[in-house]
Amino acid sequence: MYYMSTRGDGRRLTASQAIAQGLALDGGLLTPEALPPLTADFLDKLRGMTYPQRAVAVMAPFLSEFSEEELGAFAQAAYGGGKFDCPEVAPVRPVDEGTYCLELWHGPTCAFKDMALQMLPHLLTASLEKNGERKQVCILVATSGDTGKGALEGFKDVDRTKILVFYPQNGVSAIQELQMVTQEGGNVGVCAVKGNFDDAQTGVKRLFADEGLREQLAGRGYFLSSANSINWGRVLPQIAYYVSAYCDLLNQGAVQSGQTVNVCVPTGNFGNILAAYYAKCMGVPIGKLICASNANNVLTDFLRTGIYDKNRPFYQTLSPSMDILVSSNLERLLLALTEDRAQVAEWMGELNATGRYQVSDRLTQKLREEFASGFCDDAQTKAQIAKTWKEHGYLIDPHTAVAFHVLEEYRRETGDKTPTLVVSTASPFKFCDGVLDALGVAEKAQGLDILDQLSQVSGRPVPAPLAGLRGKAHRFTQCAEKDKMVDQVLEMLI
Ligand SMILES: *Cc1c(COP(=O)(O)O)cnc(C)c1O
Repeated sequence: MYYMSTRGDGRRLTASQAIAQGLALDGGLLTPEALPPLTADFLDKLRGMTYPQRAVAVMAPFLSEFSEEELGAFAQAAYGGGKFDCPEVAPVRPVDEGTYCLELWHGPTCAFKDMALQMLPHLLTASLEKNGERKQVCILVATSGDTGKGALEGFKDVDRTKILVFYPQNGVSAIQELQMVTQEGGNVGVCAVKGNFDDAQTGVKRLFADEGLREQLAGRGYFLSSANSINWGRVLPQIAYYVSAYCDLLNQGAVQSGQTVNVCVPTGNFGNILAAYYAKCMGVPIGKLICASNANNVLTDFLRTGIYDKNRPFYQTLSPSMDILVSSNLERLLLALTEDRAQVAEWMGELNATGRYQVSDRLTQKLREEFASGFCDDAQTKAQIAKTWKEHGYLIDPHTAVAFHVLEEYRRETGDKTPTLVVSTASPFKFCDGVLDALGVAEKAQGLDILDQLSQVSGRPVPAPLAGLRGKAHRFTQCAEKDKMVDQVLEMLI
């Protein structure tokens, strides 16, 4: 399997080259030339497997240079050994007749990023090995909250790697910030940025594009790579859980072989829902892909009108991991639907120059066939948390609540009764403040005591990785101007 840029500089890379490099040299995203088909027989075979085995089976055809033994060891290291707090790793819970929740937050940082970021370091270090790379890799991450912690936890003390995470000051939840600034490990750095997530992401993209910096770092024995979902090594492990979820739905008798399910995904950078789209293209019987946004509803508008326009107010919401105006992975979808790299490059150029582009009517039509979309504000998010708790005794975080809200609206508008998998992306304990508000608790406990308070109110245990934050030292306190992020890199890589 070979990989090429979405913008088409024509270079073909192997999987290990694509993963080691992170981003194409022309600024595009490295994307497989084709998607390997999954047959019904294959899905049947996966039904009896564990999660790590399923992940290997799904990933192997994309990674022809890696042996099954190698991938098996990676999957075991990523998902085995008690790293996840339930044996299914990514369990599917029935919520009501026709609604199932895919819980992706049972890993070490309590958000879905763990599903990919526990795997990526293994793929990346092996990729460096395969390419005879002698330099150390420095992972630069811009995070809206969960990626940063997920990447830190995945890469901490991994040989020949360093990792530096930038997060928007005041743009992440108190628990998210605490998770990052207390990160342990000898190869990690964390820094706040004065600005919002897009400022941090733009800043990191600028660092990657800085030829002078690259040369300077090469002289010091380092090169830069990415753990953001622009890296194929992030998207690929995410395809596995959609395949796995379908197997679980079959095993639970929720669907019959071949029966269609819809998927509803709380969306930010478009990585998670893109993986669902790829799973569908490969043969998982997925119908509508329902893209759920918060008040930053640039994707809702795009999927309905074909106009992408980031020139709009940026809102800080209760679901900060979705506070994004430029969804990087949309570029991969545009390529998949048009197969026209020059056209994708043109749209991305317009986006860069004006913050806006408009696709053809034909493509808009295709988008509307594949995707439904909707959004909700913070008040609706809270109301949904309360409703799901009251009606089903099921506690959800604000990101997941956005998805439930949008699904209910979609069902009301369309009457579509297709069984639906709602993707749950974070533990409610990562967002205690908003969740307690939603449950009508006015007097909130201070600091980490809020975890115990939510536990008392809900009767659910505090996840061990969050309970363990108590008493940890604050190691990182720096805050950089958005045009001074380069100083952090140079300071860390001496
Ligand atoms: C990252 C994240 C999202 C958004 O996922 P994308 O792949 O960026 O669309 C949604 N919810 C939570 C909790 C997240 O951490």
